Amino acid sequence: MQSPRGRGAAMRSINPPVVSYGSSTYQPAISSLDRPVQFLKGVGPGRAPLLQKLGLLTARDVLYHAPHRYEDASTITHIGALATGMDATIIGRVVSAGVLPTRKGLRIFQAVIRDDTGMIECAWPGQPYLERVIHKGDLLLLSGPVKFFHGRQMQPREFTVVAGEGETPGDDGAGFIFPVYPATEGLTYRQLRKLIHDNLDELLRRVREEEDAIPADVLKRIEVEPLWKALDHVHRPTSLAEAEQGRRRLAFEELFYLQLLHARTRHRTVAERAGIAFQRKDFLVKPFHRQLPFTLTNAQKKVLKEIGEDMASPKRMNRLLQGDVGSGKTVVALFAMLRAVENGYQAALMVPTEILAEQHARTLQRLLADLPVSITLLTGRLGTKQWKEVSYRIASGDADIVVGTHALIQEGVQFHNLGLVVVDEQHRFGVKQRLTIQDMSQNGDTLVMSATPIPRSLALTLYGDLDISVLDERPPGRRPIKTALRMESSRPRVFKFVEEEVRKGRQAYIVYPLVEESEKVDLKAAAAEFEQLQGLFPHLRMALIHGQMPGEEKDRTMRAFGAGEVDVLVSTTVIEVGIDVPNATVMVIEHAERFGLSQLHQLRGRVGRGSEDSFCILIFGGQGSLERLKVFASTEDGFAIAEADLRLRGAGDLFGARQSGLPAFRFADLEKDLNLLSAARGEARAIVERDPELANHPQLRDALSTRYEERARMFRVG
Ligand code: ADP
Ligand code: MG
Repeated sequence: MQSPRGRGAAMRSINPPVVSYGSSTYQPAISSLDRPVQFLKGVGPGRAPLLQKLGLLTARDVLYHAPHRYEDASTITHIGALATGMDATIIGRVVSAGVLPTRKGLRIFQAVIRDDTGMIECAWPGQPYLERVIHKGDLLLLSGPVKFFHGRQMQPREFTVVAGEGETPGDDGAGFIFPVYPATEGLTYRQLRKLIHDNLDELLRRVREEEDAIPADVLKRIEVEPLWKALDHVHRPTSLAEAEQGRRRLAFEELFYLQLLHARTRHRTVAERAGIAFQRKDFLVKPFHRQLPFTLTNAQKKVLKEIGEDMASPKRMNRLLQGDVGSGKTVVALFAMLRAVENGYQAALMVPTEILAEQHARTLQRLLADLPVSITLLTGRLGTKQWKEVSYRIASGDADIVVGTHALIQEGVQFHNLGLVVVDEQHRFGVKQRLTIQDMSQNGDTLVMSATPIPRSLALTLYGDLDISVLDERPPGRRPIKTALRMESSRPRVFKFVEEEVRKGRQAYIVYPLVEESEKVDLKAAAAEFEQLQGLFPHLRMALIHGQMPGEEKDRTMRAFGAGEVDVLVSTTVIEVGIDVPNATVMVIEHAERFGLSQLHQLRGRVGRGSEDSFCILIFGGQGSLERLKVFASTEDGFAIAEADLRLRGAGDLFGARQSGLPAFRFADLEKDLNLLSAARGEARAIVERDPELANHPQLRDALSTRYEERARMFRVG
């Protein structure tokens, strides 16, 4: 046993301890909890590699190896009281067990279970391997529906082997709640449970000896348990409520550490450099406001106030503006840009594609026609001579507002005095690019905009370093888009409908899914369909567009569609972002079940931009996806759809394969921990504000570096 971690030791060691087995490279650990698992009771050289496979290298890792679920024996029903139609949890001994082949070749594992009140047969169709898991004499906890099949029969949804033959439940330390641990080949969850429980008292004693890394006042405000207690509750709860209390503390910890990193990033971008305190000069903003042909929505007003306060403050603004397609982000951005320009600064608007850049430049030109503000377009399409001219205008300060693609952050573009950068469709730019964009200007403000609504919990996790504004209201007068779900057998009728719309002068999109792993296969499918469609409708002007096309060709096709020279645009999901063709009124999505709801929402947003009725038709195969798609068809509210997507598919899937950077939480649940997350952010920001380097919080600094080694480097480099 080593002495508990001292202050000096904690400050000294920012690197996590080096752990290896049986060699001399092992360094004395800062805490006995960071010693290798080998030192635990019941872990010999044989088991250590198995634990390693589960990612458990140190005693601390074992403590944090949380059950992924609990079997709750506190609500058991006596077997004698079971009746057909019930859904129940029972506990009993295995009287007999074996595999039963059926005539159809299905193999069923069956076991008869007995308690003091009676016996019941349990059956697991198609799971003969259970023969190796469940043995005569085992004490089982089971839950599932009771059916009638030659008498009462339970088909367990879940089961746990509580104890082996001759053992009683208390033997492995479990009470009435049985934790079930993620296990691995060669190490069952029961063995793990025993291992953890055999060591738990000793490990918890050591946890108690250490100072809690999270400051006491924070723990008190959030009302979470001390670490040792939480770990006790997670591993050895006497009720599910207790297990949840423990989880909550550990979830807070996870969220809090991540928010500390975000707070640090924020501190570096917002506080460490002087910003610009823009004045309310209003000689551009006011007239612009007066000449708008519509009144601002309440959401726009609210967001403009938030942005206005940021810009007026001497700190740098670093804000995310989330708003559904059509919620009116461009106008908001314009107000902010005009504020910068009337203060004598330049503003830049950066977008992901050239078409979008041109579209925006035109919009701005139109909206600002009567104001003395110059708008300059900068894209990679400019010839050398034009590029020179444009760069000169930007460098001299003649260009007030510059609209461009990522050409803007290319070398050679020097602004005279850039005061504000606005990034549209920010999810198309990676985190690194975002940081580069923030650095385009030494002390200017940054506003990033996203038309992909995501639930607030996810926004706080991914963009915790930004302040967040939300446009959660649409301008009035938009026509609803009619959304229909159709089976594959209706495809001919759907295409007929497309043809009719085209005959009326409208245009249509037909979209095929593209799964990155099999891009070629999908592409072939889209290309084949395209040819078939052309065969079916030879008089329609069709074009195919996909992600593997050279950018120029893509642009050309999009332009042709925008100009009405193409009736039907067949595409993979490359059209997702930003294209605005008001005459396009039909969106047909093939294999809709393969898209996330948020992606479908983006696609649907491509229609409904003109004055005609618009339609979104989802063609799906397989009933399994019907529920999800019905949710989608029932609402046009992007935030509601994103929430549903989070609930139904989990955070990882929300953005499809493209999205990365979302941490895998072990305890936190983005669906239910929003309050905890907001609190974690508040506490983290407060600490970093007072103590940016965490110099006065050595335990925190230390805990961060062991958990997020890579990212915690920021604290060291400072
Ligand atoms: P976003 O970029 O959020 O998708 P836009 O800024 O392009 O949306 O706005 C969509 C359309 O709605 C534009 O034609 C814009 O002029 C119009 N619009 C914006 N705000 C309002 C409003 N308050 N009332 C009516 N129309 C508005
Ligand atoms: Mg927009």
